[in-house]
Amino acid sequence: MTNNLITVAYIAASALFILSLGGLSNQETARQGNIFGITGMLIAFVATAFNPAVNNYGTLVGAIVPAVIIGVILASRVAMTSMPELVAILHSFVGLAAVLVGISNYLQPNNGLPAGEELIHQIEIYIGVFIGAITFSGSIVAFGKLRAIISSKPLMLPARHGLNLLMLAATFYFGYTFVGAEEMTGLNSLLIMTGIACLLGIHLVAAIGGADMPVVISMLNSYSGWAAAAAGFMLNNDLLIITGALVGSSGAILSYIMCKAMNRSFFSVILGGFGEGSKTTVASGEKQEVGEAVATNVEEVADLLLEAKSVIIAPGYGMAVAQAQHGVSEITKMLRSRKVNVRFGIHPVAGRLPGHMNVLLAEANVPYDIVLEMDEINEDFSETDVVLVIGANDTVNPNALEDPNSPIAGMPVLEVWHAQNTIVMKRSLAVGYAGVDNPLFYKENTQMLFGDAKANIDSLLVALRSKTTKTSNKVLVNA
Ligand code: NDP
Repeated sequence: MTNNLITVAYIAASALFILSLGGLSNQETARQGNIFGITGMLIAFVATAFNPAVNNYGTLVGAIVPAVIIGVILASRVAMTSMPELVAILHSFVGLAAVLVGISNYLQPNNGLPAGEELIHQIEIYIGVFIGAITFSGSIVAFGKLRAIISSKPLMLPARHGLNLLMLAATFYFGYTFVGAEEMTGLNSLLIMTGIACLLGIHLVAAIGGADMPVVISMLNSYSGWAAAAAGFMLNNDLLIITGALVGSSGAILSYIMCKAMNRSFFSVILGGFGEGSKTTVASGEKQEVGEAVATNVEEVADLLLEAKSVIIAPGYGMAVAQAQHGVSEITKMLRSRKVNVRFGIHPVAGRLPGHMNVLLAEANVPYDIVLEMDEINEDFSETDVVLVIGANDTVNPNALEDPNSPIAGMPVLEVWHAQNTIVMKRSLAVGYAGVDNPLFYKENTQMLFGDAKANIDSLLVALRSKTTKTSNKVLVNA
């Protein structure tokens, strides 16, 4: 492939990536956005593989074929609830790739650059390896936390900000010795800095508390983009620079949006060590009694729903685990056919990845126009007859607004308790991801429908169908 053709291919791929991001910003165009992204990546891949600089096809095929097979198998098997873990581990690969590209670039003998450019190239290598190492180790810690291999509680080392500053100062010092070094004698400085950056990545992410993990994921997404952009500078690859910058900046914007949704400061996240409020975090599985929870059953909930004029469904992680979305969609269809105003209230951090609930509801063919964001629906709860909370916990916790000492204090939540009746569907009174007790369960207008969300939703659908059939039979007999 000629250089001109490669440039054209890179421009086309870049344009497709931008269109892809545009498409992904809206549910209705998300599928199309994905197709643009895949096409862009295919063009980029083919253009890179046929670059005249690439001549060792044996190694290329030997690396790519097994990688593609492993990637396809892993991605097709992964459950939606484990997606953030997959994303976290993939980010760590991007970070590792940037580190390896940087080190191998440095070890490349005699790149023939004039002195001024050589200096810039060394700085590119140093920064690229630094960002890559932080992304690599930080993503592995995030993976561990999401998989519950590592505790989700924030690691609060004494003088941790001092420690971070010390590591940064050491990075600057080794940077100074690296950039000034002749030939390849700076390798030691580069490797020591890589170790320090890995420790910094571990420390930054370990210091972030459970409920704040959504921000960490989007932040690492951003870091991985900048790591890729840095690799693009090192390899002199414009497409990698553009793609990395797109991922880096969109990840940063997403982090900002998530911070706003959780009422956290963006800069405290960037600097790490946020989530200090979680000092009072209750260990996972524990609960603090604050009253008596009233249990209900499927028949009673079916009666309430049949009498209701307006219903809001607040789904959460439990709906995803139970895979109850298809049954929920059927119930929605049925109630809407009876002219009940059914809508969904989606919290920005519900589930385990941004947009988790929207994806599940779209998969179950719930119409987009009844799926509303928290801000769009929060004021309507007081005029709602029944709220069904399906496997949500932290995102509907009144303590976030009422208890300033709560680890999730200040986080806006779906104010489901203002409705006439709130039905909470979960298996027990256990805590959610943030590990904090939820007084919603003990409120006067709350009733608990205990059990697996899918089993309960399926029984609810059967009960609703049999009750509506009985009513229509009665009407026919009377007529
Ligand atoms: P939570 O994690 O707070 O609670 C989910 C609840 O679902 C649990 O309390 C559990 O209770 C219940 N549950 C689990 N399995 C089932 C089942 N089979 N059937 C019925 N219920 C079930 O969920 P939310 O969605 O409200 O909040 C998300 C949390 O995750 C937030 O703290 C958020 O910060 C965090 N997070 C979000 C990310 C994102 O990007 N969206 C990423 C990482 C973390 P029980 O065991 O009693 O059934």
